[in-house]
Amino acid sequence: MNEVVPPHRCTGCGACSIACPVSAITMETTPDGFLHSHINQDVCINCKRCLKVCPVLNPPEKRKQEAVYAAQSPNAAVLQHSASGGAFFELATAFLAEGGSVYGATMKLENSQADISHLAVTDPQDLPCLQGSKYAQGRAYPVFKEIRGKLRQGERILFSGLPCQVAGLYGYLGKKFETLTTVDIFCHGNTSLDQLNCYLTYLKDKYHSDIDEYIFRDKERGTGYKPKVTLKSGKVIRQTTFQEAYWYLFQNSKFYRESCHSCPYASPKRISDISIGDFWGIEQVRPELLSAKDGRLNERYGISAVLANTKKGKALIQATQLVLEDSTIDEVASHGAAIREPQAAPEDRAQVLEMFREGNFAQAKAYAKRQLGLYYYLDLLSDTQLVKLAKRVLGT
Ligand SMILES: Cc1cc2nc3c(=O)[nH]c(=O)nc-3n(C[C@H](O)[C@H](O)[C@H](O)COP(=O)(O)OP(=O)(O)OC[C@H]3O[C@@H](n4cnc5c(N)ncnc54)[C@H](O)[C@@H]3O)c2cc1C
Ligand code: SF4
Ligand code: SF4
Ligand code: SF4
Repeated sequence: MNEVVPPHRCTGCGACSIACPVSAITMETTPDGFLHSHINQDVCINCKRCLKVCPVLNPPEKRKQEAVYAAQSPNAAVLQHSASGGAFFELATAFLAEGGSVYGATMKLENSQADISHLAVTDPQDLPCLQGSKYAQGRAYPVFKEIRGKLRQGERILFSGLPCQVAGLYGYLGKKFETLTTVDIFCHGNTSLDQLNCYLTYLKDKYHSDIDEYIFRDKERGTGYKPKVTLKSGKVIRQTTFQEAYWYLFQNSKFYRESCHSCPYASPKRISDISIGDFWGIEQVRPELLSAKDGRLNERYGISAVLANTKKGKALIQATQLVLEDSTIDEVASHGAAIREPQAAPEDRAQVLEMFREGNFAQAKAYAKRQLGLYYYLDLLSDTQLVKLAKRVLGT
């Protein structure tokens, strides 16, 4: 066998590498840092197991929703540490109340370099290490074998991750397990760890200090995309959304992995029991649900969209402490591009990839600044007292 699928179709889920009976498949990285499978011809025995587990070749079943909700954790501390409305934390807490393990992505920083991987939590006290979005692709497949072992023992598992990671797990397991519940995250693209680390190296050099913690969405200043950087020196830097331009480049799909631009999971029909994301545009489609209009959801701290794609998923959602309001998939999709269709690759994708490949984040930032124009400077001012006052007066 030469390859399972060509690198541009591979999502990097790693299922084939774990499933290969003779360990002929390794997960390697492209020059941009994107994970893909590689077969060692000298070791391969041509058994074709990799072709059976690959979700690109065997797409998992997609389902319509049983129910759709706008949701929010009632707990302020949970909201502070979650990217949107704390749906993940509340689902995981309700799941663990009946025992079992919750698997999700965690991010560690060492020498200012990030590593993102999946790990298991069995004690609700440990859930904070899985909270919050990490906007780069980590490795989930190293836990697939452990998960299969637990499921075979009849243990309960909640697996939460990107849709392509859930698809990889399904492919590896090869059959349904009643004790497995899956949660996927709305996702319209992801970058590589190398690219994230290129940016973190730039920050380290800029501030002459190693980075102790990087939070992509700091809730202390409300919902949105405002990163917080804590340096080893103890200094805390609160960035505006576009200050360092990583967000601008990410949100505009400038350096995603190639498979993201034809992702089959960026769709209203879903492969997991539950799907969660941001409920963008809720102030336009359901303003009456918001606290500003005497509703039960506080718009300042992020509101989740929660899709119950199976009866099992719906039962877990209803067992949580989440404040739930009925909604529809059309309402969620009206401003949620990630569940409508994949994002087309922008014309300058290759150019931006090259900047990261050369380790030149300063160049990528300068490029983004030029594209943002005046908006870059308005964003820098967005946290100043004057602009906050103007916004209050204008009611925006
Ligand atoms: C790469 C990426 C792209 C996204 N794109 C969109 C989008 O376009 N539109 C949208 O509405 N929402 C998007 N989201 C989802 C959104 O950012 C929140 O993660 C989601 O709403 C859950 O928020 P929460 O408050 O419920 O829980 P949180 O506590 O914020 O989320 C924690 C959960 O996210 C998972 N997670 C975090 N980072 C990763 C990662 N790198 N890999 C795998 N799993 C991870 C954890 O396993 C955990 O289950 C994206 C998330 C990621 C990681
Ligand atoms: S054909 Fe079999 S041995 Fe060869 S890479 Fe695929 S799984 Fe491994
Ligand atoms: S199983 Fe996953 S890692 Fe392997 S080829 Fe298919 S998509 Fe790529
Ligand atoms: S867009 Fe699709 S392929 Fe890309 S990271 Fe998200 S789920 Fe995976």
